[in-house]
Amino acid sequence: MSKSIPDIAIIGAGPVGLMLAAILHHNGIKSKIFERETSATVRAQGGTLDIHAETGQRALAAAGLLPAFRKISRPEGEATRVVKKDGTVLLDENEQPQQLQPDQNNGEEEEGRGRPEVDRRDLKDLLIAALPEDIIRWGKGISSVKPVPKTQQWKLEFIGSESSVEDSESGPYDLVLGADGAWSRVRPLLTDVRPLYSGVTALDVWISPAQLAVQPDVSAFIGEGSCMMMSEDRFLSLQRHSDGSARAYAMIRTNKEIGGEAPDAKTLLGLEEEDVVVVDWTDAKTRERYVDKYFGDYVQEARDAVLAMTEQPALRPLYMLPIGHRWESRPGVSLLGDAAHVMTPFAGVGVNVGMMDALELAEGIIAYVKQQEEGKGDLAKMLREYENGMFERSQKDAALTASMLEVEFSEDGPEKIVEVMSGAGPSS
Ligand SMILES: Cc1cc2nc3c(=O)[nH]c(=O)nc-3n(C[C@H](O)[C@H](O)[C@H](O)COP(=O)(O)OP(=O)(O)OC[C@H]3O[C@@H](n4cnc5c(N)ncnc54)[C@H](O)[C@@H]3O)c2cc1C
Repeated sequence: MSKSIPDIAIIGAGPVGLMLAAILHHNGIKSKIFERETSATVRAQGGTLDIHAETGQRALAAAGLLPAFRKISRPEGEATRVVKKDGTVLLDENEQPQQLQPDQNNGEEEEGRGRPEVDRRDLKDLLIAALPEDIIRWGKGISSVKPVPKTQQWKLEFIGSESSVEDSESGPYDLVLGADGAWSRVRPLLTDVRPLYSGVTALDVWISPAQLAVQPDVSAFIGEGSCMMMSEDRFLSLQRHSDGSARAYAMIRTNKEIGGEAPDAKTLLGLEEEDVVVVDWTDAKTRERYVDKYFGDYVQEARDAVLAMTEQPALRPLYMLPIGHRWESRPGVSLLGDAAHVMTPFAGVGVNVGMMDALELAEGIIAYVKQQEEGKGDLAKMLREYENGMFERSQKDAALTASMLEVEFSEDGPEKIVEVMSGAGPSS
C-alpha cells in the first residue's frame, strides 16, 4: 500500500516557509524545514510588515493563529504620515481617528485599513511557536537539490557537508518546496531566470528604542506608524517598530530600466577611485554625504530624522523577478514566496502574496493526502494547479508593485499616494 502522506522538505524558515509548515501541522501533516541560519535569533530579523485581511490573515486563520496574531499586531502601526519634501503635511493619520473596518476573517471590527503592522521577528516567533521543535532544522542550508534517478523524488545536499558523506536528512523527499527567498537555491531546478536590479537602491539605517526615546522631534516626525516623503527619483520611508526602535529607508532611483547594473557605493557618493578604498556607512560623514547629495532639498526635519539613525547602516540595491515570470512544472519540486516572485516593497504586498502561496499549496497537499487515502491523488497535477494559480495571482501583485514604484518615485508622489490611500487609485 502506498503511503498517504508525502515526505515534505521545505527550504527556508522565513515567514512563508514557516506559514506553510504551520498550516500543514494544523492539519496533521508533518514536514521538515531546512534553514541556513543557526537559530531564530542569530540575525536581526528586522522591519515591519503589514499583513492584509484578505491574504496574509487568511493564511494565519488556516493555521488557527489569527487570535494570537491579533495580540502581537499593531493596528496603530498603520497610521501614516505623507509629507512633501518642503515639509507640507498632506496626510497625518496620527491626528485622525482611524475608520473601523469589518474584519473579513471573523466578522469583528478592527481599527484601520485591515492591514495591521507586525514586526517580522514577532511574526516569525509566532509561527515557530506553533510548530513542534523538531520540525525546523536550524543551521542546515541547502547547497543543491538532486533528482533521484528513475523516481519523482529529490535528495538534498547541505552547505558545508561533502556530497560523499551521507546525511540522514538528505532524503529522498516526495516534495521539495523552495521558500528560500530571493536568491533561492531551489529555483535553478525550474528556471534559469535570476532576480534583476529594480533600479532602486536604499540606504537602510536604524535607531534603537533608547536613542529614539531621547529624540522627541524624530519620534514625532515618524508618528505611531510610518512617514513617507516622495519626489522625482527619491523616496524617504521612516517606520516605527513594536520594540520602540525605528528604521529609515532613504531610497533613490538610479536606473529607469529594470535589469541594469546596480551602482556601487563610491559611484553613488561621487567619490573618486583614489579618495577611498571601501565606503564605510558606519561613518556619520558618509551618511551625511549621501543625504546631502540626494535629499538636500528635503526639509531639515526629514534629513535630521535620517541622520539621527546610526545603527546597522547598509546600502541595499532592491531586486525583483521579471513580472509574469513562470516555469514548466516538474514533479516533486516547486517554489513559494520571494523564491517564486520576489518584488520590490512598493505596494507592501510581498509577504502577503507569499502567505497566500503557503495557503494554496497547503490546501493542495491536504486535498492530495485525502485523495491518497481513497487510493487516488496525483502529486504532480496538484503542483501544476498550485503553480498556475500562483502565477496568475502573483503577476497581478507584481504589476501593482511596478505601478506603485512609478507613483512613489514621482514629484507628485505624495498627492498620488494620498489618493491611493483614500481608495481612489490602484490598490491590492
Ligand atoms: C524593505 C522591505 C520592506 C517590505 N515591506 C513589506 C510589507 O510591508 N508587506 C509585505 O507584504 N511585504 C513586505 N516586504 C517583502 C517581504 O519582506 C518578503 O516578501 C518576505 O520576507 C518573503 O518571505 P519569504 O519567507 O518568501 O523569504 P525570506 O523572508 O527571504 O526568507 C527566506 C528564508 O530562507 C533561508 N534560506 C535562504 N537560502 C537558504 C538555503 N540555501 N538553505 C536553507 N535556507 C535558506 C533564509 O535564511 C530565510 O530564513 C518588504 C521587503 C523589503 C525588502
